[in-house]
Formats: sequence, C-alpha cells, structure tokens
Amino acid sequence: MTSEIRQNKATKQWVIFAPSQGKRPLDFKRQESENQRLPAIDKDCPFCPGNEKSLPSIIMELPGPEGSQWQTRVVSNKFPAVTPDGNNVRYRRGLYLAMPGYGRHEVIIESPVHNRRITQMTSNEVGVIIETYHRRYVNVMNQNRNLMTLIFRNHGRQAGTSLAHPHSQIIVTGMVPSYIRWREERAQYYFDESGRCVYCDILEQEARERQRVIAENETFLTFVPFAAEVPFEIWIMPTKHQACFSDLSDQEKPRSGHYPTGLLGTVAAQAQRPGLQLHHQHRRALQGRRAPSALVPSDQT
Ligand SMILES: [Zn+2]
Ligand SMILES: [Zn+2]
Repeated sequence: MTSEIRQNKATKQWVIFAPSQGKRPLDFKRQESENQRLPAIDKDCPFCPGNEKSLPSIIMELPGPEGSQWQTRVVSNKFPAVTPDGNNVRYRRGLYLAMPGYGRHEVIIESPVHNRRITQMTSNEVGVIIETYHRRYVNVMNQNRNLMTLIFRNHGRQAGTSLAHPHSQIIVTGMVPSYIRWREERAQYYFDESGRCVYCDILEQEARERQRVIAENETFLTFVPFAAEVPFEIWIMPTKHQACFSDLSDQEKPRSGHYPTGLLGTVAAQAQRPGLQLHHQHRRALQGRRAPSALVPSDQT
C-alpha cells in the first residue's frame, strides 16, 4: 500500500501514514548494543561499498576531502515514507482531509566506512556532508510541488535510527507540518508588531549577553536557546539575516563544517553518547525570516 498524508481533524496536524516504513530493516536488533565494536565494512549493510545492488538508485555522490573515492552518496530510500509520483491535491473522506503521499524521501550516506561516527569525522569531512545537504536542498526545492524540505539525522537507537551506518535523511513534502507553520506565524506576528525579525533580535541578545553561547565564527552563532525544550538542545543560527538554507554561500559553507564536529563531540561527551537528532527545517515561505537549525539530543541515556 502506498503512503497517504492525513490530517488530524482535531489538531490540523498532517501525519504521514506510511505502511512501508514498518518493513524497514532493524540493524540494531542484530547489533544488540551500540557500544559493541562495529566493523569498518559490514557485508550485510546496504550502505557499505560493494553492496550497491541493494540500493534502489544512486542520485549523486561527492568525493571526500582527499578526492579519492566517494564520501557521500545520496540514494532513494528503499522504504520511502513519501514518493514523487502523484500529487498533493487534497481529497475528503467524510469529515477527514487527506492527500496522496507525495514527496521525496532520500538517504545521504555520509561515509563509505560503516563504523565512522560523525563525532570522529574531521571538519572537512563534515563540510562535505553539509555541501551534500545544500546541493540536494537546492535541487529538490526547485521542484514546484515541494513546500517543505526537512533534513534530519538520527544518531543512536534512542533517536530512532534503524541502520548503524552513518547517514542522514531528506524528506520533501507538499504540505507544511503545523509546528513549522506555527513558528512562521509567530515570526510574522512579531514582525507586524515590531517591524523586526524575531530571530535577528534573539541572536542580538544572545550575542550581547553571551550566557548561552557555545561557539561562534563570522558565519554562525551557536547557543542554547533561552527556553530550550529538551536537555542539550542547541541552535546553530546564521549571523546574517538569511531566510533559507539555499541562500548559504560558498564562502559560508566550509566554515559551517566546523560546527557540528566539535559540537557533536562536546554534546556526546557531556551526555555520555546520547541519541542525537539534527534538524534543518527550512522552506521558502519564511521569506525574509531567519530559520534556525536545531540540534536536539533526543535522549540522554
Ligand atoms: Zn555499512
Ligand atoms: Zn532575521
């Protein structure tokens, strides 16, 4: 059965109803403990070199900093939550509203090495991952039914990942989840009242007070939000007013790679290797508003 996007009538939240997700392999069932030593190449892992026949299709690859072989490889998700065929036209079922499960669901394999943790990667390697995010983001946002692109990375079983090999995911949909729409509306109200961008103002106060700042360079300020919603939540925010991840310039990109490496290592050490979720939530409807990236450890245990 193909997926469908359904609206919760009571909350207006859109929910992806994807039966195929239940068929995902659960590598962690096999690897009983995350602390167990993983091999550099796993013959049963679909993301490891040599197992390309298990991949549905390879969309793009980028070489590593040494230029020798691929470091990142983007593939279609074998068990997609949404698919590019179809459309985003809504239909009714009695009281309820739904639409076909239109969108894209891709996997970004971040390294050919099965046991290479992102916390062990050099900033140049992380830079290649950010470059891959950016290229795919620009590409998929140019396709006109796409309203929202979500890039996320789960690290560890507690964060919900099913395969141990380092990877991120991209989900593109023809709808905007209500929690993102709500943030945009709040930013719009703030602008209507003050004529200013709420994220620029938050950034200004954080940079002035310096009580929650973790790291900074010319391009990004990294801080714990004043009202963090979960332990170890971190925002990585462009210092320049920037509405969309696609606006990131080439000059800004390599430096952005410096951030997650050090940060992930710090957070992992502080929280004794938590499950991590890294979200890039952006869409063009933000217009002139700044969209932060959030680094959200999902679990501290
Ligand atoms: Zn692997
Ligand atoms: Zn701004």
